[in-house]
Amino acid sequence: MAVMDPQAQIDVLTEWMRQHKIYVHPNLVVKPHDQYPGFGVYASENEERQIDEHTTILKVPKSAILCPVTSGIANLLEEAEIDGMLGVAVVYLYEKSLGEKSPWWGYLQILPESEDSPKLWPGDQKEWLKGTEVEEVGGLDDSDVKEHYNDVLLPFFKENQEVFPTASLKTDFSYDAFAKAMSVVASRAFEIDQYRQLALVPFADIFNHGAEEHVHFETNDDVCMVCGEFGYCEHMAAEDEEEEEGAEEESRKRRVSDASSCPSLSGAPEEPLRQEPDDADNEDLYKDDFDANDDTCDMTIVRKTSPGEEIFNTYGPLGNDVLLARYGFAIKDNEADSVSIAREMLATEGSRKKWWLANAHAVCKTLGLLEDDEEGHGGCGSDCECGDEHDDCGSDCDDEHDHDHEREREHGHDHGSHDHDDEEDEESADEEIGGKEDGEGWEDEDDEEHDDEEEEEDEEEIDPEEFAQDCLTIDYPSAPSSPLLVLLLIYSIPASFFELGLSDPQGALVQLGELLEIISEIGAGELAVLEVASEKPKLKIITEAFENLETAVRKRYERYADAKITSAEYEVIINELPKEETRKRNALTVVANEKKILEGTLESVDRLLALLRKATEKKTQKKPADLAAELTANTKFHKNNQKVPPYPGK
Ligand SMILES: [Zn+2]
Ligand SMILES: [Zn+2]
Ligand SMILES: [Zn+2]
Ligand SMILES: [Zn+2]
Repeated sequence: MAVMDPQAQIDVLTEWMRQHKIYVHPNLVVKPHDQYPGFGVYASENEERQIDEHTTILKVPKSAILCPVTSGIANLLEEAEIDGMLGVAVVYLYEKSLGEKSPWWGYLQILPESEDSPKLWPGDQKEWLKGTEVEEVGGLDDSDVKEHYNDVLLPFFKENQEVFPTASLKTDFSYDAFAKAMSVVASRAFEIDQYRQLALVPFADIFNHGAEEHVHFETNDDVCMVCGEFGYCEHMAAEDEEEEEGAEEESRKRRVSDASSCPSLSGAPEEPLRQEPDDADNEDLYKDDFDANDDTCDMTIVRKTSPGEEIFNTYGPLGNDVLLARYGFAIKDNEADSVSIAREMLATEGSRKKWWLANAHAVCKTLGLLEDDEEGHGGCGSDCECGDEHDDCGSDCDDEHDHDHEREREHGHDHGSHDHDDEEDEESADEEIGGKEDGEGWEDEDDEEHDDEEEEEDEEEIDPEEFAQDCLTIDYPSAPSSPLLVLLLIYSIPASFFELGLSDPQGALVQLGELLEIISEIGAGELAVLEVASEKPKLKIITEAFENLETAVRKRYERYADAKITSAEYEVIINELPKEETRKRNALTVVANEKKILEGTLESVDRLLALLRKATEKKTQKKPADLAAELTANTKFHKNNQKVPPYPGK
């Protein structure tokens, strides 16, 4: 595609959206971004043209989104079982290769050639990010991209030479083009519904990320698995009949396996994209003319706009690791950042480590340390359209809409679908990476079951290593996560206490909970606890825990490319970088923020250790045997009905 003037690109998009009956609020302003490459959506400068909350500002018919089932090669992809992010990348490449002949050309022409994913950086630039969380989540490793191109796409292209001529494998469908395509779609795809899975949603992807969002992305998730229809369709009618005959289970299987016979999968877009109505020049008429029954992807304003400000979507409370790996940018002082010290914490073998790995998730759950992770709806303004407070949205939210307005985060392609020749190699590579839950989006997600037609509660199958990677963190600005504190305590308790856990796991958990409470009191500056003589055995445990933390943090710090440069020094370097050095600025911003977290942790740990040592040295310490007796005695007062995982050997 020839490079066009940005305003011309916007004009082409606008005209294309009119033709395809995509409603966009007339008061929105799209223009080139003043700081980054690409575009942004802004509020009007005019005070009179601000948009109130609850206003729907964008309605994209699902026939106009770009995904495997809507594309011109839907049947080929279905046959080859290529779906998920990989499928979106292929249809993006295919439609792009058609140029102006593609029904999506007016949209595709505004997309960038690629996002600045560190996976695509040369080796010397990747070196800037050595030791960072970007590396930890696999954000520098392009081997999975290469494998998918070589193992899945090349055979697919060769199988379908009439669509992908051999010559095009060096141009439109080359590895280079694919890698760039992955960077574009991984940063823009939205999760739509159980039929369409992931898709590019024209215009919805122009909103940039802000921690404080203005818009929600919403759509109906509960559609027919076979034809994608929202509401009643022939397949549901068929199922009802069978259910009456008590053949529910049978029909469920058929509904999934019959997908290939569905007419909507036979190649053409589900519905022909509709033509511009005659009266489309009048915005209001145009909106009225919009078919309210058509299933759409919507964006709704959740916070009233102010004149001229940029209108943000939030991609979620994402740390710089994911922001840079997937979206190609990083934020100074990103409050969602955290540094994992799982590798340091799990470096040595031992029965306590083994026990923790086996029981960590259950223990943390019992102690109530996981709530935040599991609700997962952070980063939202509180004025959700659904009327619920956002923090507990997960449980109370209106079923009508899929509330996950964030861009796709966790769904890679379903790995069950296509084959790799070296499947096993890839599996083990995935495990080594041990990606975070919010890891960058190119990895395979073998656990995802897109075909689940019922929203079954996932049976909790937690990979201990993955859980460790995910939860043994120090969070911005310098807070060790609760699971990390638990592990530190497990390492520090006397052997007698650890033994106690074998015979009385409930009591041991209560003790752990109390130790955590003391730590939080110390952390909150309630130092009175240090004066209580009876707490001294516990303070000794906590002292050792903090000493271990200090060691782990220092080791973690050593992993960076240049362990001698502090965060403050990095900030000076960043400020002196020329404006066009975006890539280096992003990389150093990641490093600086992570180092700041570790440095802050060392500072507060030192302060706490000084206090703790002073307090514990005053009187003679109790012997471990006394401690165990005391803990056992205390335990008797704290019996409760909590479910507790067994200690080893029990
Ligand atoms: Zn159907
Ligand atoms: Zn929200
Ligand atoms: Zn909600
Ligand atoms: Zn794969």
